[in-house]
Amino acid sequence: MSRTLYDLIGLFAGVCFILALKGLSHPKTARRGNKIGAVGATIATLVVFFYANEGSSLPLNNLGWILGAVAVGALIGVPAARKVQMTQMPQLVALFNGVGGGAAALVAIVEYLHLGNTATTAEVIFTVFTVIVGCVSFSGSIITFLKLQELMTTRPVVFPGGRFVIAGTLVAVLGVAVWVVSALGTTPLLVLAALSLLFGVLFVLPVGGADVPIVISLLNAFTGLTVAASGYVLNSVLLIIAGTLVGASGTILTRLMAEAMGRSLFGTLFGAFTAKPQDTSGVAEERPVRSGSPDDVAILLNYARRVVIVPGFGLAVAQAQHTVRELADLMIAKGIDVAYGIHPVAGRMPGHMNVLLAEANVPYDQLLEMDEVNPTFGQTDVAIVIGANDVVNPAAQNSPGCPIYGMPILEVSNAANVVFLKRSMRPGFAGIENELLYDPKTMLLFGDAKASLTKVVSALKAL
Ligand code: NDP
Repeated sequence: MSRTLYDLIGLFAGVCFILALKGLSHPKTARRGNKIGAVGATIATLVVFFYANEGSSLPLNNLGWILGAVAVGALIGVPAARKVQMTQMPQLVALFNGVGGGAAALVAIVEYLHLGNTATTAEVIFTVFTVIVGCVSFSGSIITFLKLQELMTTRPVVFPGGRFVIAGTLVAVLGVAVWVVSALGTTPLLVLAALSLLFGVLFVLPVGGADVPIVISLLNAFTGLTVAASGYVLNSVLLIIAGTLVGASGTILTRLMAEAMGRSLFGTLFGAFTAKPQDTSGVAEERPVRSGSPDDVAILLNYARRVVIVPGFGLAVAQAQHTVRELADLMIAKGIDVAYGIHPVAGRMPGHMNVLLAEANVPYDQLLEMDEVNPTFGQTDVAIVIGANDVVNPAAQNSPGCPIYGMPILEVSNAANVVFLKRSMRPGFAGIENELLYDPKTMLLFGDAKASLTKVVSALKAL
């Protein structure tokens, strides 16, 4: 296969990726977009085998190892992707993203060894960049995975003198990078990889639960940039296109997420350097709360004129999207004005609540974004919070120094009554207490959201 044909096929795959992104921008076209992207990725992978086998400048050695690795990857990846629950998708994305960054770093190291003294300065600089950012993305994504899977605390991990350790590691990374560029050699490159891995861990540890979405998309952008840089080293137009697309879209998403969370991008990027140790010993106080029964909730709803439903991560865990729609339809039939208040980081991935509610065919015009719904809580009789916690926590407005301080919230406390559907008094992802649970106007309905909603629907039908 000629180089021109190879590049043209690469360009075609690049167009597939652009169309995929376009499709993914709307729930209705997202499936098609995903399929187009998969077709592009398959073509991009297969074409390498045909081009490389025809005595090109890119000979394909170790075919057995490559096919073996593809088989092992497929054996692990296909069942994992098939079985994963919707609520665990962010963890999977974090893992895939980390593996992508790590792979780009490994490829860069191998290519560096291969080029040896023939490498141009530009190639060495791109290699160094790929190794640093790829390794940071790999180890940072692993920590993000552990946080999302709740295998480690979701609160910021900050230790005394931590910021000096982080700053020192960064200085060391940059120093060794200069060493690699000026002295060339395998040892400095491997030291650089090890320090970058350490920096990735230290960089993500101080990030609190609520800021994890921003970090996921930032690491994703990092991976894109490493892939684009390795495309330069490998002379692959396709890798440059694909990497740039991921880098650009990841950067835009990071900015949007940071804006939605009321964080400056700078603050999120360099928060690790300024974070101070926090008291994490806080044992939850034993304070009285007002809990109610499904009948109590049904009566409250029956006499309401306006109800706002606030969905969160727990709605996805309980898979209660169809039941919540049934409740909304029932209330609408009774003449109650019903809307859903959607927080941009509710759930565990961007657009999580929109996707979930679209699955139950909830009409789009009933979904109100935070800025639209917040001014209406003052005229709302009941705000019914279903499996949400951090996104309604007033600590974001009243507790300077708490990990979510400054994040805009859905101001449900302005409603006349607040009903919380949750299973226990456990906090949300950010791991902090929610004062609203103890507010006299709050009624708690304990239990799995789907089971509770089913009972409320039956009770409301009976009224
Ligand atoms: P939270 O994680 O704050 O709260 C979820 C609530 O759901 C908990 O209080 C939990 O309480 C309850 N819950 C869990 N399972 C059930 C169930 N089966 N039935 C009823 N309730 C249940 O979720 P929010 O949506 O309010 O906030 C999202 C958080 O996740 C934010 O901190 C955000 O920053 C973070 N995040 C968001 C991402 C995104 O892109 N959207 C990505 C990564 C993190 P209990 O256990 O008592 O039932």
